[in-house]
Amino acid sequence: MLAHKAAMRRLPAIATLAAATLFCGAAAADVVPLPHPRPPMPFEPKSFAEAAAGITLPDVITSEPSPCRLRLETAAVIEPLPHLIGPDACGGGDMVRLKAFHALDRKDVVIVPPPELRCEMAEAVVVWLRDDIAPIFSAPALIEVENFDSYECRGRNRVFGAKLSEHGKGNALDIRAFKLADGKRIEPTDVYVDHEQRDKFRQAACNRFTTVLGPGSDGHHESHIHLDLAERRNGHRMCQWEVRDPMKELAQIPLPQPRPNFGAESPAANDKRKL
Ligand SMILES: [Zn+2]
Repeated sequence: MLAHKAAMRRLPAIATLAAATLFCGAAAADVVPLPHPRPPMPFEPKSFAEAAAGITLPDVITSEPSPCRLRLETAAVIEPLPHLIGPDACGGGDMVRLKAFHALDRKDVVIVPPPELRCEMAEAVVVWLRDDIAPIFSAPALIEVENFDSYECRGRNRVFGAKLSEHGKGNALDIRAFKLADGKRIEPTDVYVDHEQRDKFRQAACNRFTTVLGPGSDGHHESHIHLDLAERRNGHRMCQWEVRDPMKELAQIPLPQPRPNFGAESPAANDKRKL
């Protein structure tokens, strides 16, 4: 009880001290400069559809065509794309939509649907198709290339949590088929397409790209060919595409063992079989 009374007597002193502290605090707040407001962040488009809506990063990023784009415009029909950031590590600058390339005979060969690629990758694709692939089909001529996948923000082989695919940087293209002027459709992974022709597709792809994945690589590329320009330590290249031959594979399958001979069958048994 005595202690309580003593505490009550000290109350006015505590109140005075608190008021003084508050006053000093207010005075200090007057002199401490407030943080500057952050400048408004430019809108960062997460897809080309968003970017095409007209809200893009500052013009400085896309206003000047790169030397690559200037070269590509003489060799192909392209549409420049706005700088794309994200989501996460996806996106990139100097991307283009590659609609067609000029073949050596100056006729255009379309790519359907037009892939969205980083300019250097688009240029490598044009050179590969124009100088290596189109000449393989002299008559009937190559008129269309079937694109299976290009820019897409995803992990490798669409596995959740996997390392970012080169597709997420616009650095990869998946090819499904080549179409010829007579309507024929040629899949480079089809074992019934001429073996020598498929060997040429493979050899040319492995010369031009740092990664080539096809049948026999990892089980995810049995019906299309993956091409990219990934940079690796020591300039390591990956060329994993087995050009398969069904007749050879059939020949390698061991024949069934001959059935044991149980001796000659009786004439009666032969008669039954005829029924
Ligand atoms: Zn791919």
